[in-house]
Amino acid sequence: MTSRLSFFTFEPLREVPELCSLCTSSSTVLIYESQLHQESGEIEGARGFCCGLCAMDLVKQLEGAESQQWMEKEAALKADDADIGDFQMHRLAAFRRTN
Ligand SMILES: [Zn+2]
Repeated sequence: MTSRLSFFTFEPLREVPELCSLCTSSSTVLIYESQLHQESGEIEGARGFCCGLCAMDLVKQLEGAESQQWMEKEAALKADDADIGDFQMHRLAAFRRTN
């Protein structure tokens, strides 16, 4: 299962975005598109204008979800008595700040 998060710029002279569609209080700077896999297996998609802070929040949310998936994969490997050494080292290095 992969999730996707993309950001785009827009033409401010042709497109007149309203406030950030996520926080509804800041001016917009980007367009975002996301397709996130939920625990239920469904894909949740969203698209809209966002401010810089909300763009960073979206990246943090995706990073957190990915960290959770990696931890679940590691637990599943460990339960199967598989060697998790390299995977665990890579996971800990990748998500040092979030774990
Ligand atoms: Zn915002």
